[in-house]
Amino acid sequence: MLREQTRAIHLRNIVMGGSNQVLIQSMCNIKTSKVAEVVAQINRLAALGADLMRVSIMDEEDALAIKEIVKQIKIPLVGDIHFDYRLAIKAIENGIDKIRINPGNIGGFEKTKLVIECAKKHHVPIRIGVNSGSLDRETLLLNDDKVTAHALVSLCEKYVKFFEKQEFFDIVISLKASSVLTTIEAYREASKLFPYPLHLGITEAGNSKTGLLRSAAGLSPLLLEGIGNTIRISLTEEPEEEIIACKRLLTDLNLFTNFPRLISCPTCGRTAVDLKPLVDRVTEELEKINKPITVAIMGCIVNGPGEAHQADLGLAGGKNEFVLFKKGQIVRKIKADEALKVLLDEIDKCQ
Ligand code: SF4
Repeated sequence: MLREQTRAIHLRNIVMGGSNQVLIQSMCNIKTSKVAEVVAQINRLAALGADLMRVSIMDEEDALAIKEIVKQIKIPLVGDIHFDYRLAIKAIENGIDKIRINPGNIGGFEKTKLVIECAKKHHVPIRIGVNSGSLDRETLLLNDDKVTAHALVSLCEKYVKFFEKQEFFDIVISLKASSVLTTIEAYREASKLFPYPLHLGITEAGNSKTGLLRSAAGLSPLLLEGIGNTIRISLTEEPEEEIIACKRLLTDLNLFTNFPRLISCPTCGRTAVDLKPLVDRVTEELEKINKPITVAIMGCIVNGPGEAHQADLGLAGGKNEFVLFKKGQIVRKIKADEALKVLLDEIDKCQ
């Protein structure tokens, strides 16, 4: 599916925006100065499918660590800086691929200007990140003291104009609110106003129980309208879960082509096997592979293969046994305790 045309931003070996695919990202949850641990986490997440990763830069040690980290990873690194513009400059000088700042808390326009000059010199893009929690007094007064989508966008517009006045155009924009509806409205407005790539996310979305649903509800309408060039599904979980969630969402929206889909039935009175442990194990295994296949695990032979006819392969439960089916057609019977192994072998053989 085509994305809304935006300016294309180059980050190391990848391009964000233009008509390029939606990039997947997450954030390290280890202090950035712990170089070895951060590198290991980033490389693990890159293998899992992260296109870029972000780290917090909270002090001088973190900014210095960037120099070592970027040498040992293959995907672009983004630095997240608040309050101290000098850390942003240091991160850029140490080789960061992109920074994220909120001009509202980095020390005013004068300090922002110094960061922009440094970024321009080193060809480092800047994400302007506006959050619902950080609206300034002036913006709130102009918007009846309410945190509305328009308030977020109008503050962002003020910042964007300042960046453009400095002739800086390698901009990415994010407008985050924890309200799903405000976020959708803000990004729709932003996509009409700005020619820059948009980073989509619902901030403070919660853990996997609430956050997945909230992020899917907020991001899906936008992505389907062609809005959004990179996503983060923020969860109070390990970053691995965020990357897998991004891949699942994009796969279901046909915006990602190389990740498996799992179908499983909700079970009912006809179910004669213990389906959930099998579904959980296969889900775990599918998270590790990059193949555009659909696998189904269904509770009964009567309806299972038919209900999952679009699956490339699958299992349907009987009494102490399963049948293996491919594209809705039954292939053979398997004993219940061998089902997992047989299915994984078949998945392995799929191209
Ligand atoms: S596939 Fe069979 S067991 Fe599963 S919900 Fe449908 S009818 Fe029930």
